[in-house]
Amino acid sequence: MSDPANANAARVRPYLQLRTEQRTPADWLRAARADPQTRVVVARGTTHLIRYQPQAQIVFVSLEQPAIAALDESRLLLLGWFEGQRCVLADLPAELALELPGTRFEELRPLLAQLREEEMRLLCHAQALLVWRSRHRFCGVCGSPTAPRSAGHVLSCTSPSCAAEFFPRIDPAIIVLVTSGSKALLGRQQSWPPGRYSTLAGFVEAGETLEEAVAREVEEETGVQLEAVHYFASQPWPFPASLMLGFHAQASQTPVRLDGELEDARWFDRTELQSTSGPTLPQPHTIARRLIDHWLGTQAA
Ligand SMILES: [Zn+2]
Repeated sequence: MSDPANANAARVRPYLQLRTEQRTPADWLRAARADPQTRVVVARGTTHLIRYQPQAQIVFVSLEQPAIAALDESRLLLLGWFEGQRCVLADLPAELALELPGTRFEELRPLLAQLREEEMRLLCHAQALLVWRSRHRFCGVCGSPTAPRSAGHVLSCTSPSCAAEFFPRIDPAIIVLVTSGSKALLGRQQSWPPGRYSTLAGFVEAGETLEEAVAREVEEETGVQLEAVHYFASQPWPFPASLMLGFHAQASQTPVRLDGELEDARWFDRTELQSTSGPTLPQPHTIARRLIDHWLGTQAA
C-alpha cells in the first residue's frame, strides 16, 4: 500500500480560511456588513438554501437581503473566508419565510453527493454548528439560557454566577477497512438497500484510544482480530456531530462471527469489489469509499 500521507497531501490545504482571530472583536458583524464581498449561507433548522442549475449549489445572499438584515445578531455566525470571500451563516427561525425564485430549503445528507466538494464541506461545517446550537440552548450546568459569542462559535451561560462556556461538539468515530491479502471485510446493516456493503464503523468510547476502538469494533461486530492498524484520513460527518477517523487494518483471514449489530459481514475478494456484479459500495464522497478505493487502487501496484 502506498503512503497514506501522499494520498492526503492534496487535502491538507483547507477549503475554508477560518481566520479565528476575526471572531473575537465584538463588532465582527459590523466588519462583515462593511465588506461588500460578504456572502451569507442560509439555513433553517437543519435545512439549507440551495438551487439546482442543474447541479445542486449553495444560494449565497447578501447581508442586506431584507430577511437577513432583520435577523438578530444571535442568529448570524462567521464561518470564515470561503474561496476568498467572507462567509456568514444565517440560522433562520423556523417560522421565517424566505422565498427566493428558484431556490428551496433541503436537508443536507441527500445533497452530499450532488454538491461540489468545497460546497459540501462548507455546508457540513454549517450543519455541525446548527445542530450544536439547537442542542445547547440551555446551560448543562445550571439550566439558564445560553447566548452566542465569538461570532457564534461559543455558547455562554447567561447566568453571571455560572458563565459556563460550551464549544461545538465533535464526537469521534472510527471507520475501518480490514483487509487480509487480496480480501476485504465489509458489512451491511439491515436497513440498507439490498446488496450494499461498507466498511465497519463505531463510536470511540470514553477512555479508549482510536486504535483500541478500531480493534474493539471489528471484533465485536465480526469476531475478526486485527494485527495492525494504520490511520488513513478523516471526514467531518455532522449527522449529528461525528468526526469519522478512517483506518486501514490488516487481519489474518478468519471466519466471520456476527453479533447481531450487522445483518451480514463477509470477506470480498478485490475482483468482486471491482466487478459490476459485486456489492454496492458507498458513495464516492464518503471516507468509506475513499478507504476502499485507496486499497483497490494501490494494492495492485
Ligand atoms: Zn450555567
